[in-house]
Amino acid sequence: MTRRELLLSSPALLGVPWQAQSAPTRWRAGVAVTDITPRESLWMAGYAARTRPAQGTALPLHAKALAIDDGRREPVVVVALDLLGVSTAMSAHIGAEVARQHRLPRQRLLLAASHTHSGPVVDAQLSVAYDLTDAQQQAIDAYTQALGGQVVRVVGEALQARVPATLHLGEATAGFAANRRVQYSPDGPVDQRVPMLRVDVDGKARAVLFSYACHNTTLQGDNVEWHGDYAGVAQATLESRHPGLTALFMSGCGADANPMPRGTRALVTAHGEALAAAVSDRLGAMSPIDGPLHAAIEQVDLPFAGVLTPEQWRQRFGLEDPYVARHARLIAALQARGTLPKTQPMPVQVWRFGTATVLVALGGEVVVDYAHRLAREHPDERVWAVGYANDVFGYVPSRRVLDEGGYEGGGAMLYYGRPGPFDATVEERIITAANRLIRSTR
Ligand SMILES: [Zn+2]
Repeated sequence: MTRRELLLSSPALLGVPWQAQSAPTRWRAGVAVTDITPRESLWMAGYAARTRPAQGTALPLHAKALAIDDGRREPVVVVALDLLGVSTAMSAHIGAEVARQHRLPRQRLLLAASHTHSGPVVDAQLSVAYDLTDAQQQAIDAYTQALGGQVVRVVGEALQARVPATLHLGEATAGFAANRRVQYSPDGPVDQRVPMLRVDVDGKARAVLFSYACHNTTLQGDNVEWHGDYAGVAQATLESRHPGLTALFMSGCGADANPMPRGTRALVTAHGEALAAAVSDRLGAMSPIDGPLHAAIEQVDLPFAGVLTPEQWRQRFGLEDPYVARHARLIAALQARGTLPKTQPMPVQVWRFGTATVLVALGGEVVVDYAHRLAREHPDERVWAVGYANDVFGYVPSRRVLDEGGYEGGGAMLYYGRPGPFDATVEERIITAANRLIRSTR
């Protein structure tokens, strides 16, 4: 079943040239920020090998909301979260509350995660990777619920804060993202671009939204302090270098990229400062953009290839207990309840700024091939692709990565509690949906 939400259901709104080409767009924008650093010692997300919960805060975690409208249509709001990702249930709950309290339709809300591996576990995400006690899970559930309220509030604050603004687009590059699947492709693809959107109020830079396609994993499992990783350092550095500026990070399609080198506090500072410097250097060299601003979202159902047995997880992906045994118990419980899924719903969202720029926000941990393919298929438009958007449910391999196998090609699905790898059709399904939304917002 495919649920489809399109803002532009009315053809009358789609193509009235004299409207779109009249006076410059009267943008309005607002920003709001809230601290989401847990106040207690929760389990940390992302590394299965950790043996103890968080021991303190090295760099506070934030939820930052940027609201933009083109003066004619409903606003859009992006929320940049220093989290590994939001779950399906969190996205549904926050989306419904934002719609109820702020009258913002789902296609106009983008929940973007930095994918830091030094933030808290949320909901039941990646539960196979951790061995949580009931008390630890209850503390995570309480944090998750409070976080949802904070996100809904910060969206409202950003909407309230809107004032006349100008928008500018640009692009920097940063060199530390490296393809991490060296065993399959020693010179594997990578995307080192840093797309960026600057929002000015009264001629002064008030916000910058930027992305980078690289796992936010400079710090590894030995770190047990809350930290936004390189993305957290980049945002904090930009904000201290440009007083009055709010920096919002989104993770690009970097599921198969890692920061290189990695593993120390010195390196996380170096990568974060390098990214901040790249953005900072381009801040003054960006081009103004006009509207209109159109939004659309679609849910694509991605089929699983089947249910893998414990022996298949061991042989095909080299995975071991306790994770294989834990996964088998989870799958058995889902089967007993008759709720084992055959497909994975994936949100695909498009925001179009004027005629030439489209932001494509994909759910899940998306590999770099998607960013390159979308750019290739739309040579006349600037396609800004990000992953980890609206729902982080597992990895999203391309056909190439699926065929190669390995962690991103299927092994990681075990930790996410999915029945098995995706089937061979998922890349075409995702690209078809994204292309349909890109066209529908023209
Ligand atoms: Zn990841």
